[in-house]
Amino acid sequence: MSNQATKILAGKVALVTGSSRGIGAAIALRLAQDGADVVINYVSSTSAAEEVAKKARGLGVRAAIIKADVSKADEIAALFAKAKEELGRIDIVMSNSGIEHFGDLEDVSQETFDRVYAVNVRGQFLVAQQTHKYIEEGGRLFLIGSVSANWGLKGHAVYASSKAAIQGMAKCLAWDFADKKVTVNVIAPGGVQTDMAAENAKHYVPGSDKMTPDEIVAKVGAGSPFNRMGLPSDIAGTVALLSSPEAGWITGQTINCNGGVFML
Ligand code: NAP
Repeated sequence: MSNQATKILAGKVALVTGSSRGIGAAIALRLAQDGADVVINYVSSTSAAEEVAKKARGLGVRAAIIKADVSKADEIAALFAKAKEELGRIDIVMSNSGIEHFGDLEDVSQETFDRVYAVNVRGQFLVAQQTHKYIEEGGRLFLIGSVSANWGLKGHAVYASSKAAIQGMAKCLAWDFADKKVTVNVIAPGGVQTDMAAENAKHYVPGSDKMTPDEIVAKVGAGSPFNRMGLPSDIAGTVALLSSPEAGWITGQTINCNGGVFML
């Protein structure tokens, strides 16, 4: 028996939106490590997406790279059609793409609000619609949330509410996907060291204007019993766990992956 055949996700195909960088890249590679062929999606980082695909192939799986902007319905439909055409099936979908927003209340334009919601909310709904069309029976759909959904921070209403919306969405989708015996859950990370966090962690830390980037990372980490910020691999491990056959009775849930951080 080949090594590949012994892996838990061998023969499965996982599509991860926003897998050129950060959490999405780690999830795609973790699922590839478990034997899944992977679809790497990106919107602008072509060479980063190619690098992730190269690493996945190095793990012995097939990898397709498909550019698609999840704020556009036609591009999402094309993403799924191409994924099915190139890799033959879709078993696991991780809707991970997202954009962060902080801003003074009176400065938030309708355009900004719509842009955040187009990616973080409508985009995830449209990904779910296409997932329902293509996914194999017994598959997995994960939506991306955030612990921010349940915190209250100044200047964060647009992003936090976009992530809170996903929790209600998943509870309903759990019913919609039951006909295919597919589970639907929200992965809600806390602070995870990625490009997004490098830009935004300061907004979560009172007094951060007098701190260095390393001090901000340490301060966020100090909110966890493990005394460190999350890493993309922490979130990827959770998705791998919930992608296993044993997780088939967990649906409609929001899984907080935040290393125990309650509040900064
Ligand atoms: P990141 O480092 O900024 O990476 C974002 C990824 O999403 C990139 O691959 C990017 O593609 C892709 N993306 C952005 N807009 C897109 C669009 N319109 N269509 C398709 N793909 C798009 O972010 P991250 O920190 O890994 O975060 C990933 C997800 O976790 C986000 O939904 C975020 O809200 C959520 N989250 C993150 C944290 C954290 O602390 N990092 C905490 C809670 C929740 P390109 O490379 O092509 O731009």
